[in-house]
Amino acid sequence: RTVDKYCVFGNPIAHSKSPDIHAAYAAQTGQALSYDKRLAPLDGFAAAVRDFIAEGGKGANVTVPFKLEAHKLARALTMRAQAAGAVNTLLFTDEGIVGDNTDGAGLVTDIVVNAGVPVTGKRVLLLGAGGAARGVVLPLLEHNPAQLTIANRTVATAEALVAQFAALSSGAALSARGYAGVQGQYDIVVNATSASLSADLPPVPPSVFAPGALALDMMYGKEPTVFMRFAAEHGAIARDGLGMLVEQAAEAFLAWRGVRPHTTEVLARLRATL
Ligand code: NDP
Repeated sequence: RTVDKYCVFGNPIAHSKSPDIHAAYAAQTGQALSYDKRLAPLDGFAAAVRDFIAEGGKGANVTVPFKLEAHKLARALTMRAQAAGAVNTLLFTDEGIVGDNTDGAGLVTDIVVNAGVPVTGKRVLLLGAGGAARGVVLPLLEHNPAQLTIANRTVATAEALVAQFAALSSGAALSARGYAGVQGQYDIVVNATSASLSADLPPVPPSVFAPGALALDMMYGKEPTVFMRFAAEHGAIARDGLGMLVEQAAEAFLAWRGVRPHTTEVLARLRATL
């Protein structure tokens, strides 16, 4: 019998964990599918997608650096992909390519379900205003935080995000800051900058962490990031981005297959392989 084909496009892509995650989800839910990784040329993303569709591909994930191009390529966008301005999940339908974005939902599920920290009524600080940050604003606001502050090195980018989402903030105090201008304490601090990649730290005052605050870095690896260490030294509980990765994959699997896999064991197994 034929199996439905999926893949993840990126450049580089060799170290992607998505094939392992989706293989685990397929086995767990008894779905017959294949999922591999595909290196798309930097100037050949659209062609790579068309080739995959011609081979019978049913859907794909998209990672660095193609999320904006995938947004342009899609004929229709889900609301959360529109809000994010970026696409990490493609569905190939009879009506054409549909673009979705599951990164934000994945982050919020990791915070609320896996970490057990409700967002509702909380003071949330989002560090960064790039693609990853933009994708999480709407899913965070849907949980009605008391406050959402977006801080970025380039303050104008944070201000643009606040302007974009102001109408959707439904009572949450939404504001933009530079790092040095962040005042007060926060219950949840999300590092959506790429600073950790270069062992850098967004220079927020250490007083931003309320006692026992959740500090989540979207990056992950064997060792805690500088941000995670900084947060833990100042009274926060640090968490990396591996749970977000597993949850965005579960959300994509749901969009493709209509069933949401369980993630706890997959996350634990993946953690052990880091
Ligand atoms: P972008 O390039 O779109 O945005 C980068 C952001 O980081 C900007 O806000 C930029 O600020 C800021 N930044 C970069 N370097 C520094 C620095 N040295 N100090 C302070 N701020 C800095 O990247 P993305 O938003 O796509 O990705 C951000 C991170 O999130 C990456 O590490 C990525 O791997 C991770 N990620 C993890 C996912 C997961 O599933 N766990 C999913 C998606 C992303 P400025 O605007 O001033 O330049």
